[in-house]
Amino acid sequence: MTLGGCRVKKRQGLPVSASGTLQARPGLGGQRENYVTTDQPELPETLDVIAVGAHPDDVEIAVGGTLASMVRRGLRVGIVDLTDGEPTPLSPGPEVRLEEARNAAEVLGVQVRETLALPNRRLFDGFEERIALAKVFRRYRPKMVMGIADKTPMASPDHWQASQITDAAVFYSRLTKWDELFENLPVHRITSQIWYPLGFQNLSLPEGGGRFISDISDTLDVKLESIRVYKTQFPPTKQRVFELVESQNRLLGVTAGFKAGEMLISTSALGIRDVFATLCGGDQSSS
Ligand SMILES: [Zn+2]
Repeated sequence: MTLGGCRVKKRQGLPVSASGTLQARPGLGGQRENYVTTDQPELPETLDVIAVGAHPDDVEIAVGGTLASMVRRGLRVGIVDLTDGEPTPLSPGPEVRLEEARNAAEVLGVQVRETLALPNRRLFDGFEERIALAKVFRRYRPKMVMGIADKTPMASPDHWQASQITDAAVFYSRLTKWDELFENLPVHRITSQIWYPLGFQNLSLPEGGGRFISDISDTLDVKLESIRVYKTQFPPTKQRVFELVESQNRLLGVTAGFKAGEMLISTSALGIRDVFATLCGGDQSSS
């Protein structure tokens, strides 16, 4: 099955890099003289996929199995948290939460995790927030971006804001004649955007190009382990979360013939080149 013709060059995974913190800088207007500079900033090695969450643990809960599976297939995967997720009731502070995030990234095997300096609990979709995330896309030049699908009623409103920021940043990443806003980072066109549902209290899903189930039969355990790393968020009194995540993933998996699965939504129509091979697991004709 192809997602918008996305083709990736497979590579061996590298060790997890140190977690970085990007500053969301106010006053991104830039001066006129910046328009003419041609200095290109040094760029890191590209990532194939970037998954964006509002808080450290969002990505693990929703698509941790898919990301771990991608890493096992040799893709280079990154996670971007728009905020550090703090304060929260049981966490002693952001340093502990960031350490948990680094450890969770290591469990999943992703190559990069970055945490932006946008504010938890008062995250809003705004111009500077969009620019801050689009800069990350321009630096790492991913082919695929995964973002939160929709509102999460009864949970943090940051999730819906993160969804809108991600949608906009995917577009901003490719816009020309705006170099002064992006510190001359090169324009980058993202091939495929995926939405992931987050939470357990809403059965409705946004309309998109196509829903599909990602097979996480082999990585559900790794996913659950990566969530358990967040001891400040899931103390013994919140063990029910693990039952919810596993139940949801088991049910979704069964719907597609897998032991476990995560639902994803392609923002563009899903195209299938070989219908028989895709739906019959690659089997050839019986004749
Ligand atoms: Zn969250």
